[in-house]
Amino acid sequence: MKKKRFVLLDRDGTIIVEKNYLSNPDHIELVPGAADVLKKLKKVGLGLVIITNQSGIGRKYFDLATLRKIHQKLTDLLLKNGVVLDDIYYCPHTPEDDCLCRKPKTKLVEQARDKHNFDPKLCFVIGDNKGDIELGKNIGATTILVRTGYGKQIENDELSPDYVVDNLEAVLPIIKNELAS
Ligand SMILES: [Mg+2]
Ligand SMILES: [Zn+2]
Repeated sequence: MKKKRFVLLDRDGTIIVEKNYLSNPDHIELVPGAADVLKKLKKVGLGLVIITNQSGIGRKYFDLATLRKIHQKLTDLLLKNGVVLDDIYYCPHTPEDDCLCRKPKTKLVEQARDKHNFDPKLCFVIGDNKGDIELGKNIGATTILVRTGYGKQIENDELSPDYVVDNLEAVLPIIKNELAS
């Protein structure tokens, strides 16, 4: 049997509105249309995993318990909109910690791969920032930069993602096309 393919999604600026170190579950705001897109991605048979850098923990802006509440709320919110997330992986470190899990490093993807049994090279990595695109390149995946969040500011940096789109909605035809080819 063919392995299920996965979409590796960034959280802030991609699925939820970028809030600069979101630390309150009540401040979660889905990017308009995001839930619908995720639902459609599931419907074409893709797995959905969030991979997120949360250095706010390492910087002591908020704690792990708060992050768990935020992720529970996000999971519930998506569920209410008909989306079952497969998993959420986070790096709690700061860049100075020099850990192995902070995007664009690949440890979180490796953990997700071991648990969910997918081929990283066949993944779609979607995000609004440099680290997302670099992560995608590091694992040999298809990379899509969205212009929400920080995407617009960094799209002219020398990143060369495979695709640049205005928003998550525009990701759908690209992925469907890739799946068909
Ligand atoms: Mg982001
Ligand atoms: Zn880390």
